[in-house]
Amino acid sequence: MTSTPSSRTLYGWTTCSADMAGAIGGTPLIRLARASDATGCEIFGKAEFMNPGGSVKDRAALAIILDAEKRGLLKPGGTLVEGTAGNTGIGLTLVANARGYKSVIVMPETQSQEKIDFLRMIGADLRLVPAKPYRDPGNYVHVSRRLAEENGYVWANQFDNLANREGHRHSTAPEIWEQMEGRLDAFTCACGTGGTLAGVAFGLEDSARAAGTERPKIVLADPEGSGLYGWVKSNDLSISGSSITEGIGQSRITANLEGAPIDDAERIPDPEALEQIYSLLIHEGLSVGGSSGINVASAIRVARNLGPGHRVVTILCDGGARYQSKLFNPDFLRSKDLPVPFWLDKKS
Ligand code: PMP
Repeated sequence: MTSTPSSRTLYGWTTCSADMAGAIGGTPLIRLARASDATGCEIFGKAEFMNPGGSVKDRAALAIILDAEKRGLLKPGGTLVEGTAGNTGIGLTLVANARGYKSVIVMPETQSQEKIDFLRMIGADLRLVPAKPYRDPGNYVHVSRRLAEENGYVWANQFDNLANREGHRHSTAPEIWEQMEGRLDAFTCACGTGGTLAGVAFGLEDSARAAGTERPKIVLADPEGSGLYGWVKSNDLSISGSSITEGIGQSRITANLEGAPIDDAERIPDPEALEQIYSLLIHEGLSVGGSSGINVASAIRVARNLGPGHRVVTILCDGGARYQSKLFNPDFLRSKDLPVPFWLDKKS
């Protein structure tokens, strides 16, 4: 019941790959000791921070580019444009570099300096825009769509392009199923585009059906300031509060989220997520970012609801170094009235 999952992966390092795309996916599934011990369950995190671009969004970026190539939209020397919180831009730019395309990345200026610096470092044509709600024409998603229309670029359109969730359905989900040897009771993660949650949910459903077993419970993990928790609980997308996490939370039902089998939702306040981020780092040697904290906090709640002896999987979306200036910066944390972890608190 509590055996460690197989380390075998669907991709991996046993063969040479033609380019960096072959290094995307095949990430380890790591047992989270503290979360498991605290709940009497087995809780695992899929180490997506180990992808070449450092996040789960490498998978969506690759799937979107492969789909655009297959449909004849993307030709050698072509240009991709995307609106992104940063990680998709990083994945798209790296895959574009490897396959001979250019990338134009539109990003709200509120995102972490580390992501901004990294995008510039890897050669993205970066356009920072003021953070605006989706209904505003100046929102980064609309700016990217207009750039595509005006310049003949290929718009990645990660929110409503189903290649995103199909990528997860055919890579992330079967990897999790295989690594868990088909024995998992629940999967939980947060949504930005919804590609990860919906793709993994559909993919686990496919695998469970093929195995003749019940599919695991699918639970949305949502930060404050997102409408999705209310949508799952009571079909109400209204928004309250805010979060310092980046890349997650949503005010609309994207095409990627449409029709996904989601059974329940947890809304996680920032302090609860930060507690997990600091605990993973200092007790388990895992450096992760804000959305991973939301995910692990949600996995703990899901495990508690299920009761001891169950197996829960979540996603470790990206690494902590991407948020050094925020989540690991005492001045920033104090400015938000958030607790400073003891080893960073140099006042004492
Ligand atoms: N975590 C991080 C750090 C992200 O950047 C994103 C995507 N913006 C997500 C989680 C959410 O992933 P998805 O778009 O697949 O819902």
